[in-house]
Amino acid sequence: MSNSAESRPAAPPAFNIMVKPVGPTCNLACAYCYYLSKQQLYEDRRFRMSDELLETFTRQYIEAQKVPEVVFGWQGGEPTLIGLDFFRLAVKLQQRYGRPGVRILNALQTNGTTLDDAWCDFFREHGFLIGLSLDGPEELHNAFRVDKSHRATFDRVMKGAALLKEHDVDFNILTTVHAANADHPVEVYRFLRDEVEAPFIQFIPIVERDNQTGFQEGSKVTARSVGGRQYGDFLIGVFDEWLRRDVGRVFVQVFDMALTASLGERPGLCVFDETCGAALILEHNGDVYACDHFVEPRWLLGNIRDAPLVDLVGSEKQWRFGQDKRDTLPRICRECPVRFICNGGCPKNRVLRAPDGEPGLNYLCEGYQAFFTHITRPMRLMTEELRAGRPPAGVIGLLAAEDAELQRRFARARRNQPCPCDSGRKFKNCHGRPSSRPGTHRQA
Ligand code: SF4
Ligand code: SF4
Repeated sequence: MSNSAESRPAAPPAFNIMVKPVGPTCNLACAYCYYLSKQQLYEDRRFRMSDELLETFTRQYIEAQKVPEVVFGWQGGEPTLIGLDFFRLAVKLQQRYGRPGVRILNALQTNGTTLDDAWCDFFREHGFLIGLSLDGPEELHNAFRVDKSHRATFDRVMKGAALLKEHDVDFNILTTVHAANADHPVEVYRFLRDEVEAPFIQFIPIVERDNQTGFQEGSKVTARSVGGRQYGDFLIGVFDEWLRRDVGRVFVQVFDMALTASLGERPGLCVFDETCGAALILEHNGDVYACDHFVEPRWLLGNIRDAPLVDLVGSEKQWRFGQDKRDTLPRICRECPVRFICNGGCPKNRVLRAPDGEPGLNYLCEGYQAFFTHITRPMRLMTEELRAGRPPAGVIGLLAAEDAELQRRFARARRNQPCPCDSGRKFKNCHGRPSSRPGTHRQA
């Protein structure tokens, strides 16, 4: 607990607020969705941001940022349900309140099922970056992503993806990793890479508390959630496929973030930053909450109709929320060799006790340890490439040459000699076994 209120800045110079123009309202009913239950927080069920509130927010948000780039993030529910005119007004207000030298960007997360030519023309014209939710090939996607009549949504989402491509809209894919798709990393990744042609992919683990409130309380998780180790194995499966051919061609958020951390820089993703608190959420009625995952009464900061946004973001409550991410880390994390990348992960997932009984260990810890350990050497090779002024994709050639050399050594090895892969086992019990030869290589 090294920090005191005196060291608290008035407000961070830059922060992100995701805006929910229709609150938690959505046209779908994905089984793991944590938004739908938030409807219970509001007695007034007219989930629609007014034009006047949009103007108040736009003005306050731009004024509060002390950086040359301001990103408006639009989130749901399904934000397109509010209609195109709302976003036409949003862009107009951004132009009205924008300052010279400040670049304004828009990013919108959608389930893709409402998109048409008019939406895509608009996105293209105004340079919106679209995040499309897609959980993999048909059967894996449809396992949980269904509409209110429990009908599959895959075909409708793929139609949305085709429209985005046809209209040359910038898009990335957000794939949640859960009990249904987690054992199929390569299938999911190849589908996104080859069929969807996604240039940028985010994998988000589903860790869903099993309770009636929909809040972050209780330590049980639902059967839909991904397993801790299972998540690590999923990332390892994707990483090994990506590493051999796609570095520099396909961007996977968690790999980028790990490379940044390996270079000694801040990852820039709240989940893996040492502290958080600069990624807030604005509800349709002006309520501001500490984080998208903590839309619950104890983390309500206030309403921008009553208090300036900058005061809410710079409040003691919000500052403490962000500092607690570091200050409540259990000892096992503080002494962990991969802490420099992991930082204990997102507090919303810290439901386990460490082996010594201390609370606050991340549900995904076993997977994080496995994954971040697995990628240590290739990340080191990529950082060496970068430091030598070369693109990290050079790692593909380096590993291919290593593989070829290893195959030559396998071909020369005798049954009772140590295996050339350095496993410490005899060749006959390792890569000398008939089933293990083709395509095997030293662990990346
Ligand atoms: S609680 Fe988790 S998702 Fe929210 S800001 Fe912190 S790290 Fe990010
Ligand atoms: S890998 Fe586990 S022990 Fe290490 S920092 Fe992450 S959550 Fe903590």
